[in-house]
Amino acid sequence: MNASDRVLIAGGGPAGMAAALFLTARGVPVTVLERSLTPHDDPRAATYHPPSLEMLEASGVTAELHERGIVTRTWQYRDRREGLVAEFDLGVLAPDTRYPYRLQCEQHKLVAMMERRVAASPLAVVIHGAEVAGVAQDADGVTVELLRADGSRDSLRGAWLIGADGGRSAVRKSQGIDFKGFTWPERFLVITTTFDFEPLGFAYSCYTMDPVEWSATFKVPGEDGRGIWRCVFPTDPEADEAGLLDFARAADRLAAFVPGSRAARVVHTNLYGVHQRVAERYRQGRVFLAGDAAHVNNPLGGMGLNFGLHDAHSLAERLAKVWHGEAPDSLLDQYDRQRRAVAERYLQAQTISNKQTLEERDPAQRELRKAEMRATAADPARARQFLLRTAMIEGLRAAAAIP
Ligand SMILES: Cc1cc2nc3c(=O)[nH]c(=O)nc-3n(C[C@H](O)[C@H](O)[C@H](O)COP(=O)(O)OP(=O)(O)OC[C@H]3O[C@@H](n4cnc5c(N)ncnc54)[C@H](O)[C@@H]3O)c2cc1C
Repeated sequence: MNASDRVLIAGGGPAGMAAALFLTARGVPVTVLERSLTPHDDPRAATYHPPSLEMLEASGVTAELHERGIVTRTWQYRDRREGLVAEFDLGVLAPDTRYPYRLQCEQHKLVAMMERRVAASPLAVVIHGAEVAGVAQDADGVTVELLRADGSRDSLRGAWLIGADGGRSAVRKSQGIDFKGFTWPERFLVITTTFDFEPLGFAYSCYTMDPVEWSATFKVPGEDGRGIWRCVFPTDPEADEAGLLDFARAADRLAAFVPGSRAARVVHTNLYGVHQRVAERYRQGRVFLAGDAAHVNNPLGGMGLNFGLHDAHSLAERLAKVWHGEAPDSLLDQYDRQRRAVAERYLQAQTISNKQTLEERDPAQRELRKAEMRATAADPARARQFLLRTAMIEGLRAAAAIP
């Protein structure tokens, strides 16, 4: 093996680290290039669906997630004024998966678990403080230009490059790949609170409908592992950022939702823009896109990060075969066909529908949606079909059926 046989991975977030984990497990040498010197530990994704737990099982990450995370067997649709609408029990997926539940644990902990394992592999090099600033490819390989944290520049050569460098992907831009879709006018506010929603009957993951102030509520382990809750709310596009992030105003917003929360503490607020976009190609020659570099979506349903893990798994499986000379290069086009098709048909469609359900303004439509949810939850066969889709199993099966 020489240095230029390596697979270069731009970005050491969930998708990039997962790609490194899955490739080294298949005997492929990787170099991970991560711009940041320190982990991103602000509140981001925190939900892992059954297929992700299956994919991470062999590495031991799934076992560690179980030690540190929260198992969420049921999740709920609620109405802000009426309370519980329907509860879905993921246990009906027992015939379909070894993990018939959601597991909740903060994203930065998952990344650290994966990075520890990647860094322990003799096949891996992980470089922090290395920003991919330019990409050139030819018939034999890829050369990336690096901007180091100290301001110096150098370059690195590899056989292939995976752009897992997030929604603003420099790799995607370097290849002139369009990122089609739209941006929602409102940003989402995430409030982390010590208030315990469980005694009010909330499951560890809940979606609360309201035409003005819908909310997603879920429990994560928190730094001490004892559990803390996050609430996601929409915001007025005209509202000023400092006001939205202000802890006292966040406490008012929470108190309007759950009056008993006054005595609790707001421990964090963050605000982020929400987009629905899919790259027009996932492969350009020796360059691939995975994770948020390839698709972005709203967080309702907890699908974005999981989808990036599934991209990494699909790509690693194919790239390892090609790298070892066991399959033709054309196998890599299947990655683009399968993953891009289901990003449109499942990831985008489901997350847009989730948002529309929560914010439905037409009272008659809202009642119809609630009746539909109750009927689905009450019928085990319908519940299973619905949960196969929302737990991301159906999308993976659909991807596997694309030649
Ligand atoms: C602020 C914020 C809040 C979020 N909140 C939620 C949430 O509440 N719920 C939810 O489900 N999802 C949330 N998400 C989305 C979720 O975090 C992403 O889907 C997930 O992180 C995608 O993983 P990724 O590895 O594809 O990209 P990222 O996590 O963005 O990782 C990309 C990595 O690449 C690095 N990088 C970027 N550019 C370069 C470069 N040029 N060279 C080298 N390295 C580079 C970055 O430092 C980063 O570590 C949030 C995202 C953000 C940004």
